[in-house]
Amino acid sequence: MTSFEDLPIRDDLRGLTPYGAPQQPVRVAINVNENPHQVPEVVARRIIEAIARELPGLNRYPDREFTALREQLSVYLGHDISPEQVWAANGSNEIMQQLLQVFGGPGRSVLSFTPSYSMYPLLTQGVGSTWVPVPRADDFTLTAELVTEAIEREQPDITIICSPNNPTGTATDLSVIAAAYEATDGILIVDEAYAEFLPDGEETALSLLPGRERLVVSRTMSKAFAFAGARVGYFAADPAVVDAVRLVRLPYHLSAITQAAATAALECSQIMLQQVDAIREQRDRLVRELPALGFTPWESGANFVLFGGVDDPAGTFSRLLERDILVRDVGIPNTLRVTAGTRAETTTFLDALAEITNAGK
Ligand code: PMP
Repeated sequence: MTSFEDLPIRDDLRGLTPYGAPQQPVRVAINVNENPHQVPEVVARRIIEAIARELPGLNRYPDREFTALREQLSVYLGHDISPEQVWAANGSNEIMQQLLQVFGGPGRSVLSFTPSYSMYPLLTQGVGSTWVPVPRADDFTLTAELVTEAIEREQPDITIICSPNNPTGTATDLSVIAAAYEATDGILIVDEAYAEFLPDGEETALSLLPGRERLVVSRTMSKAFAFAGARVGYFAADPAVVDAVRLVRLPYHLSAITQAAATAALECSQIMLQQVDAIREQRDRLVRELPALGFTPWESGANFVLFGGVDDPAGTFSRLLERDILVRDVGIPNTLRVTAGTRAETTTFLDALAEITNAGK
């Protein structure tokens, strides 16, 4: 059988493994930080109507500038962000890829603070840039000193700060993000895929945008918005960044159906976001209840919790899977990551974990 390694692929891609969070049907899927609540029926109906309006016109290419969607995104983001400052793509993964294509590329470097989102090194490789991982502090936090020292030493073309950070849940202070911006001449991307789950009153990096033309704040509709299947990510930045990204985007990259669905969903953003509080409650419950089972969760500003004290992550992962519960082993020794599910799913998970732990004693 031919393997892709037998093909004349790029030398720098040899030996790499594709992104591959296990995808399998289980009763409790709490492994990829999805929103466990379905799209509410009233919104689903609005989306169907919006898509239906587009269908006869599918013989034509869609609006390349997705004007209506950008307008809705700017309304949703607030912070005086105009539609000219907003850009969207098929998931924030594609947003990252476009940003790396235009600001990275061969001979350039991408720095991030690890452990962090596993796609950053792969996206970096994909554009032929050098990946520069800088370890976070032992408790996974970042300080102005740590980021400034690393950026001044490494002089990266692109710096990515994921906040709240996947897979640790750690939120980064805006003062640290401002310090990172000061330290670099390159682009600073703040990946805020999980921003809507931050504790009340915590500001997002959107408030730092005025006067910082090399700052990009990336967001997604996949998590809080319960829209992972639709594939819609976006960023806010100076209009010049949006202009630059037009150089690399594929023509008509957002289908008319995606644009219609996302615009309709954003028109109902309050309904779409109504489960965020319930999810935060389950996240806080995980952090509260895991210690009683002998585990050490980290504080999380996202919709998932990383917990330590797992003697055998692979074994615990399998025993949970035997019970039809899928969590994530992100490869950090003695830890597992679990997404906050519905109240019932979280109960099922905690009960199963207690059972497994007691059986091991
Ligand atoms: N950034 C982070 C930090 C993520 O965790 C994820 C998804 N797991 C993404 C970006 C990409 O999400 P999407 O492409 O669905 O927007």
